[in-house]
Amino acid sequence: MELNVVGKPGSTKVVRNVIKIDEKKCNGCGKCVSPCAEGAIRIINGKAKVVSEELCDGMGFCIGVCPTGALTVEKRETVPFNEEKAMSQPKITDSTIACYKCKKGEYDAYLLPMRHQGESVWVCTRCLPALIHG
Ligand code: SF4
Repeated sequence: MELNVVGKPGSTKVVRNVIKIDEKKCNGCGKCVSPCAEGAIRIINGKAKVVSEELCDGMGFCIGVCPTGALTVEKRETVPFNEEKAMSQPKITDSTIACYKCKKGEYDAYLLPMRHQGESVWVCTRCLPALIHG
């Protein structure tokens, strides 16, 4: 991950990738909460919010599951990513997450978010090759 320290030596600000949420597009469905292993996103007053930018690693794993296109990654000045704090966040599981083809859940398969025929879906690594190669 590229980090550019800005400001005076010892500054706590860096320029890096972080998630940006377009509240006008967000419908509050909550699909982006559990994919964020760092616990950076919560639904507050019906909208997705980044509760703390130090928890967002900017990898954008949440983007693929958003049905409305409300999530993007932007590079800007913010606080550094705090890996220790992110790893200590409680893991949020979602029993509705499952491969759209074989229906295996996150405890039975490795799942990836993807777009398919206009829908945001999960696919497991066993079903993905069949989708790619037909
Ligand atoms: S997945 Fe998209 S629409 Fe749903 S809560 Fe998250 S940002 Fe909002």
